[in-house]
Amino acid sequence: MLVNTKELLVNAQKNKKAVGAFNCPSLEAIRATIKAGESLNCPIILQHAQSHDPIMEMEEMLPIYMYYAKRASVPVSVHLDHGSTFEKCIMAIRMGVSSIMYDASAKDFETNIEETKYITEIAHAAGVSVEAELGHVGSFASSDEGGGKDDEGIYTNPESAYEFVQRTGVDFLAISFGTTHGVYLTEPKLDIERVKTIKEKIGIPLVMHGGSGVSEEDYIKSIKNGISKINYYTYMNCAGGEGIHEYIKKNPNNMAFDKMSLYATDKMEEDVKRAMSIFDC
Ligand SMILES: [Zn+2]
Repeated sequence: MLVNTKELLVNAQKNKKAVGAFNCPSLEAIRATIKAGESLNCPIILQHAQSHDPIMEMEEMLPIYMYYAKRASVPVSVHLDHGSTFEKCIMAIRMGVSSIMYDASAKDFETNIEETKYITEIAHAAGVSVEAELGHVGSFASSDEGGGKDDEGIYTNPESAYEFVQRTGVDFLAISFGTTHGVYLTEPKLDIERVKTIKEKIGIPLVMHGGSGVSEEDYIKSIKNGISKINYYTYMNCAGGEGIHEYIKKNPNNMAFDKMSLYATDKMEEDVKRAMSIFDC
């Protein structure tokens, strides 16, 4: 059933669990995620990252997310991930998402507040909840940020987080505490104390970006200390690709794409299940 992201997260927060938010830029990824959630009886956030528009456009994906969300036997909400323009966020709201992320984390503090506050007012008027990001979760691929560097300029400052939430009215906050987007090149060192301090200060559900590749122990510590939404994509995506590779090795004379697609979907489902069973700890 299609549900509200805020309700899912407030509920998860109460039970010291996290909801997996899965980027699904293909039908295979959507089906794998829904099947995993249904088999484990776990709630799901299906999210479209604006940066995935070149793979599948938001306008194509959201109606499909809604279709699967409504049919699912478990609670599913639909979210825009890393919305970076006003126009995209408004389009997502008009298309019926239950939450958006507006990401101005690369901008200066005051600009981030001003723009996030403006979009949050509009989203709330439409009954849509808002995630924003403070501090900056980088990626190994695109820069030298993140990945366990203890850099005060990148990590979320608890005092600033409090001020940010007070002034913008956002419903959940993505924080930077050592995770990074994409594949980890070195083992992440997470600042769990920071999560705990921010959580105690601001009270609203916190979001982990770059949720692939974190150890089971670190996931659990993060969740117990205030992370309620975990964005997950890279490793499930690779599981699908590895599935195709494995299928071709096993069936070198059968290049039928439909069979490969089903095989890869099963592999993605296995990976998503592994993640969900930790998040729903
Ligand atoms: Zn992210």
